[in-house]
Amino acid sequence: MARRIGILGGTFNPVHIAHLRGALEVAEQLALDELRLIPSARPPHRAAPQATAEQRLAMVRLAVASEPRLAVDDRELRRDKPSFTIDTLESLRGELAAEDQLFLLLGWDAFCGLPTWQRWQELLQHCHILVLQRPDADSEAPEALRDLLAARSVNDPQGLVGPSGQIAFVWQTPLAVSATQIRHLLAEGRSVRFLVPDAVLAYIQNHGLYRGQTDS
Ligand code: ATP
Repeated sequence: MARRIGILGGTFNPVHIAHLRGALEVAEQLALDELRLIPSARPPHRAAPQATAEQRLAMVRLAVASEPRLAVDDRELRRDKPSFTIDTLESLRGELAAEDQLFLLLGWDAFCGLPTWQRWQELLQHCHILVLQRPDADSEAPEALRDLLAARSVNDPQGLVGPSGQIAFVWQTPLAVSATQIRHLLAEGRSVRFLVPDAVLAYIQNHGLYRGQTDS
């Protein structure tokens, strides 16, 4: 039987409750066999993150350790090239059966940035795209995505058929939490308790991460 695998890529700098809750809710709603969080090594679109890749990975591992529906995939950290999602999808596809369904989860902000991604028009050859609402982001889709949305979106995420090729919007509990906000709070010496899992908070404290940094 075809497997249903979801992936959520990100900087996870640090991983927070909106990543985790969104991932878990989608995994449940769509009855996924597995949902993998994939930390990016050197995000192509961003300045270098303040925590090292290994520290970001360690925090994601701690965050999902007690949740069997969520897993961590560290392939982007094992690669010595920049982390382009298309490469990750091709690599994952090489390990799956042709009929397996692959779902790429993207927050609305990430989805709107798609036209700047490497070989973005090929993404849907490998996966379906699930767009997560993001209460802290703009609402207009960029012009470049209008045709794609018109051609590929389906109303009901349960109605995504086949291994790849369609786009659906999913509803998950809106949480206006961002890693940027968390880094800012920590830089100001304020608490981020309940915005990240306790194990992640302990890791941040034990490693003295994000202290006194006020850049993004
Ligand atoms: P930063 O504030 O550093 O930009 P972030 O909080 O956006 O980080 P990322 O690691 O960049 O976190 O996000 C990974 C994925 O999770 C992206 O697809 C992003 O859109 C999504 N995401 C992050 N936060 C939320 C949120 N609050 N609601 C829905 N999706 C989110």
